[in-house]
Amino acid sequence: MEIGVCYFPEHWSRDRWAADVADMAEAGIDYVRMGEFAWSRFEPDPGSYDFEWLDEVVDLVGDYGMEVVLCTPTATPPKWLVDEYPDIRQEEQDGTVREFGSRRHYCFNSPAYRAETERIVSDLADHYAGHPAVVGWQTDNEFGCHDTLRCYCDDCATSFRNWLRGRYGDVETLNEAWGTAFWSQRYRSFGEVDPPRHTPANHHPAHLLDYHRFTSDRVADYNRLHADALRGADDSWFVTHNFMGDFSALNARDVSADLDFASWDSYPTLHAQTRGETDPALNPESEAAQRAGDPDVTALNHALYRCAADGEFWVMEEQAGDIRAFPYSAEPADGMLRLWSHAAVANGAATVSYFRWRRCPYGQEQYWGALCDHDGTPDRGLRAAERVAEDLDTLPELGPVHGDVALLHDYDSLWATEAEPHSQDFDYWAHLRTYFRALRRRGATVDVVGPDADFAEYDGVVAPSLYVVTDDLATRLAAYTEGGGTLLLGARSGYSNESSRFRDDPAPGPFAPVVDSTVEQHESLAPGVEARVEYGDVTYDARIWSEWLSLDGATELGTHKAGPASGSSAVGRTNHGSGTAAYVGVWPSLGLADRIVSDLFADALPFTDTLPERVRVARRDGHTWVLNHGDTSVDVNAPETASVLLGDATVGPHDLAVLDVPPDALEVSPTSQSD
Ligand SMILES: [Zn+2]
Repeated sequence: MEIGVCYFPEHWSRDRWAADVADMAEAGIDYVRMGEFAWSRFEPDPGSYDFEWLDEVVDLVGDYGMEVVLCTPTATPPKWLVDEYPDIRQEEQDGTVREFGSRRHYCFNSPAYRAETERIVSDLADHYAGHPAVVGWQTDNEFGCHDTLRCYCDDCATSFRNWLRGRYGDVETLNEAWGTAFWSQRYRSFGEVDPPRHTPANHHPAHLLDYHRFTSDRVADYNRLHADALRGADDSWFVTHNFMGDFSALNARDVSADLDFASWDSYPTLHAQTRGETDPALNPESEAAQRAGDPDVTALNHALYRCAADGEFWVMEEQAGDIRAFPYSAEPADGMLRLWSHAAVANGAATVSYFRWRRCPYGQEQYWGALCDHDGTPDRGLRAAERVAEDLDTLPELGPVHGDVALLHDYDSLWATEAEPHSQDFDYWAHLRTYFRALRRRGATVDVVGPDADFAEYDGVVAPSLYVVTDDLATRLAAYTEGGGTLLLGARSGYSNESSRFRDDPAPGPFAPVVDSTVEQHESLAPGVEARVEYGDVTYDARIWSEWLSLDGATELGTHKAGPASGSSAVGRTNHGSGTAAYVGVWPSLGLADRIVSDLFADALPFTDTLPERVRVARRDGHTWVLNHGDTSVDVNAPETASVLLGDATVGPHDLAVLDVPPDALEVSPTSQSD
């Protein structure tokens, strides 16, 4: 459990480096990440390398006992390379070329760019192989940032056709699978299939789904090219990549198969503002969100990347202050920079690396805050980082996080519902987060897993919008339930096969005999259309998506109470084998989601009531972090045998405590007001 920092020595004069590196060591930094966008410094002219400047800083970092993470510089091909190979530039759907002048302007399927990538990565790797201070590499930077994962150029068209040949074998199989009889879209050969470029109306959903799979596959393949070159030079290095929060276009589990662990870049105030949260109780423009972020947005991504590759992850970029990120960027509340770091560690992070050491006085990110200001003076972030380094030194080294409940996150379902949302408010991540939030408000430890996970490891599985389902996945989830597991299927599950085509049987398709229910009607709800569900003796709001269920052996738990759905079933539950299965036919409000998960997963929930607002706990290796993102203090009632390793029994606003007992040993309640 260590801290790091991102450093760009190429932004500063050489006579500053020694002082910066000395200050990093003084602050308790363990890792320094460098080289991320420095291609034009590594290779100022074609074939003419200059690594001497980085050698000096790498040696300096090593002299202070810190370790170096280097980055392949491929997110920023230099101007001479773009001029020499203009075809490497990305093309948008309407043919607009993405020009040099920012970053990520290259196409993943350009043969020329792949060859240039292999050359620069291999030469860099050979140069640093065996260096005692260099311990690992980050491949590229944020694959797909700025909506660059999907390109529509001629190289992509050629590569897509080859990918389709590999998937379908002959074009008639593709025509049948996609359903190209619709709108006269039949193809006579793979050579006729284009990327889904600009069209008058929306594209065929099967075409889009395959393009999304293809583009993700090709980026995984491009990442593999980096990983192979790096490991070929020095197999003691770790290889990772810095993914992004709630990022849809890239299958992080596929990429992580070639990584030692996944990393991600965590900017809580940015994510809280922009992540499709439509629950009116979670106003992204509130002061709470602006200054403290949304604890469940951040934690869902911690859990996703923790589970992407064997249970360990890094935060490669942790927010260190105000950031140049739209729409707004308030200064974080006092305490939050430290709290976010602890939340990452509590959720399983091995290392939290701050972005960045010094605010750069020029360039596109001059407003992006750092541990130090642009004149080198310590900023609020540095004081927080120093405190975190001290905190982590006082804690024992803890093992990985294991969740009790699995939240099933499926890229095929995400892409298919993104291609055919049927509601402008249908955000796959936000639907997932409704259940994640409900579970976390009662202290559950939740893993975010893919369809290949071993479900038997979990007390419960929650699968919201498992829209695209294979027979194999349906069989495995049915077996999990038969064997005693508890399965919650959320609305819009079991609709489609792998080509985004409705299955022959009514939704939830292969799950109907598991949940003993079918979907009679479905509707997407505008904000002005009322939807209410009576559950027990309380009526809750629902929103965005509603289904009217026909129960065939299931017990009705929820009943529609508004509009033409009134009187029909909304939530059903049944026994399947020795387990339990439920189907929730609405996008529930947080109150309804809380009620449902409390009924289904009581054994996995440490608390019989919800935690105080914006307070979360996180369990790691028998220890509990109490993380107070709110504006008022809370009291932690622990058994006498428990030790408070950090903090106090009263946890103030934007503060935390760490105890050496699991959450179910604790009570957490708002501090009572004294008279
Ligand atoms: Zn392209």
